[in-house]
Amino acid sequence: MDHFLYRNGSLHAEDVPVSDIAAAVGTPFYVYSTATLLRHFSLFDEALAGTDHLVCYAMKAASNQAILKTLAQAGAGMDVVSVGEYLRARAAGVPGERIVFSGVGKTAEEIRTALEGGIRQFNVESEPELEVLNAVALSLGKIAPITIRVNPDVDAKTHAKIATGKSENKFGIPIARAREVYALAGAMRGLDVIGIDVHIGSQLTDLAPFEQAYLKVAELTTLLRADGHDIRRLDLGGGLGIPYERSNSAPPLPLDYGALIKRTVGHLGCEIEIEPGRLIAGNAGIMVCRVIYVKQGEGRDFLILDGAMNDLIRPAMYDAHHDIVPLVEPEPGVETRPYDIVGPVCETGDTFARQRAMSPLAAGDTIAFRSAGAYGAVMASEYNTRPLIPEVLVKGDQFAVIRHRPTFDEIINRDTIPEWL
Ligand SMILES: *Cc1c(COP(=O)(O)O)cnc(C)c1O
Repeated sequence: MDHFLYRNGSLHAEDVPVSDIAAAVGTPFYVYSTATLLRHFSLFDEALAGTDHLVCYAMKAASNQAILKTLAQAGAGMDVVSVGEYLRARAAGVPGERIVFSGVGKTAEEIRTALEGGIRQFNVESEPELEVLNAVALSLGKIAPITIRVNPDVDAKTHAKIATGKSENKFGIPIARAREVYALAGAMRGLDVIGIDVHIGSQLTDLAPFEQAYLKVAELTTLLRADGHDIRRLDLGGGLGIPYERSNSAPPLPLDYGALIKRTVGHLGCEIEIEPGRLIAGNAGIMVCRVIYVKQGEGRDFLILDGAMNDLIRPAMYDAHHDIVPLVEPEPGVETRPYDIVGPVCETGDTFARQRAMSPLAAGDTIAFRSAGAYGAVMASEYNTRPLIPEVLVKGDQFAVIRHRPTFDEIINRDTIPEWL
């Protein structure tokens, strides 16, 4: 469910007509709904009610500080995967004790910054990282709280580029070697081994792989406790999928996911953390574009937009589907026609949809890509010297620009010319 609905024939973000934002900000842009962000966060929070838990929003999905602050004020922690994200979360007012640091390639410098600034835990992904973390902690006279990310070797049944829990993926340590690696960690004086971490992939539309993974984590908890480790926190990762195609998909609900967590690991008495990103931000954001030209091709019509693959890369990168709707609601019963919907970038990959049935559109019309809140703005680039598009946040009948569109001068002046030129 989201808060982007037609009212009186025009698409609204909560109580704001999206066309008003387009008039004020110019297209293309992203707009997020506060109510949707908060609703999705609470669905997770409520699904884990009755267990000691923290929902750590995986901020790589959409990391604007206004979004982070909205969620943090509702009680969310943050899952970060770089020191940049750590500093951004801190700048948004998130305390260190609510920030979890994930990622396969944390550098000593990143670890030092987080340890000095305060951190809830590091999710360690390899033996060399254990050594570096231990050394940095000892050099600072600190003890680093850690979990170790285990790779449970389950098939998440999602797109290959976002599956992370198979043994051939780069993530975590093989679960079969977990006891050995925990023994190593347990002997390091700079580390406090507090738990286990697992994250098997993204956009999962079936609960079965979660169940397989969490049962393995439960079994491992018992073994590690018998080995003398005080396992008291389980970080169960993110990955719950969202319905990108309204008409034909119904991924599992957070409530059922919460029940699954309680059923598989609830008896262990551990504090539970989860790291949802996409399900919180995905349907809380849309990307709004204008049609520049309607071009008649050989046997097909192209809608050429002012938004492109550099603004929203998911279709090019993951073959992702986004529902696309006009800002002006089509008359009931209007006949649709197929369009190839493309951006202006010089790559055939700059295609958002092929032969998509839409109500007839003309140059100047505005359309919205639904479910673009997660892995949208954060993955944007300035390819073709196209400025990063603005982000806007709506709350009720108010809206605010939360990242402005850079001027061409800002972009161009970022380059520096060597003396010899
Ligand atoms: C990307 C990621 C997440 C979030 O995944 P979603 O599919 O967006 O919920 C959580 N944890 C880790 C470690 C990740 O890398």
